[in-house]
Amino acid sequence: MQNVGVIQRYREYLPALRDESIITLHEGSTPLIRAKRLEKYLNANAAIYLKYEGLNPTGSFKDRGMTMAISKAVDEGAKAVICASTGNTAASATAYAARAGLRCYVLVPKGNIAMGKLAQSMMHGAQVLQIDGLFDEALEIVRKITEEQKITLVNSVNPYRIEGQKSAAFEICDELKYAPDFHALPVGNAGNISAYWKGYREYFSTDKIKALPKMIGFQAEGSAPIVKNRQIDNPKTIATAIKIGNPASWRMAVAARDESGGLIEAVTDDEILHAYQLLASLEGVFCEPASAASVAGVLKLNKRKFFSNSSTIVCTLTGHGLKDPERAIESSDKPISVPADLTKILDAMGL
Ligand SMILES: *Cc1c(COP(=O)(O)O)cnc(C)c1O
Repeated sequence: MQNVGVIQRYREYLPALRDESIITLHEGSTPLIRAKRLEKYLNANAAIYLKYEGLNPTGSFKDRGMTMAISKAVDEGAKAVICASTGNTAASATAYAARAGLRCYVLVPKGNIAMGKLAQSMMHGAQVLQIDGLFDEALEIVRKITEEQKITLVNSVNPYRIEGQKSAAFEICDELKYAPDFHALPVGNAGNISAYWKGYREYFSTDKIKALPKMIGFQAEGSAPIVKNRQIDNPKTIATAIKIGNPASWRMAVAARDESGGLIEAVTDDEILHAYQLLASLEGVFCEPASAASVAGVLKLNKRKFFSNSSTIVCTLTGHGLKDPERAIESSDKPISVPADLTKILDAMGL
């Protein structure tokens, strides 16, 4: 079956658009992977699935929202778009803007963006501005710019982003034929957890599913404003995609948590890196560090016997591991150097 992109696939659930305005890179329809070795490792009887969003066209779930936001901008006659980004929003916005022929500006926090994401943004012909500051400051600035200029904001405060992103929840329900009992996600600016919850609720209200999942979100310990219930002025974590001290969708995320009977908790950088390595070595799934926060959270809750035996858990893996090759290399054993000599190689292999 051809992947037509999320707008065509779920058009009846999305805001109206003219056909000629649709800008797609055939995002969505990403794999839902059963993680049997991880289940065994956890000694859990629960079924764990990974929604591998790293396989979207620019390597993260941001494409689901971006196809909608950019198409809507085209539909409304916009000439330019702008976003603040920890990297993946910029990678996605620049690609979709290029395809739409729109001018694109991105503001990223200097030194706090993974190399792959910066490379992507630079390739698509956008104007990339690195600021000496945090993501939160960049977002505040682009919000001010769009109040005064005729430039469309494509951060997740743009409601069309959330509309597009909710399609991931639809895909999971369409594939499983039911909603999972738990849905685990990393939480940064908190748009995605809000989007999934919206998607599940819409499927519930149209009788596509009979029950709703509990939304379980995870922030990095040093960057956990929702968990601590206060803005964090100097967020710290190696997981740059969720290094955000004042999430734009804070209230919506808290509503998703409370309405679903779920939770939002913190995981440490060590727990994130452990889950990141486990996913790669046990399941062959390479995600970026922030993505692994969902699995780190499930590991942590499993230790306190949070899940029941028959639970189905879906973990969203938000972005591809290739985004951040430096972190991958730092987190792994170094390759062994050997001469091009059969005996020496066998020796090094321990054979
Ligand atoms: C954007 C992003 C997040 C955070 O999603 P929010 O909607 O901001 O909560 C997590 N992981 C990755 C890889 C991302 O790109």
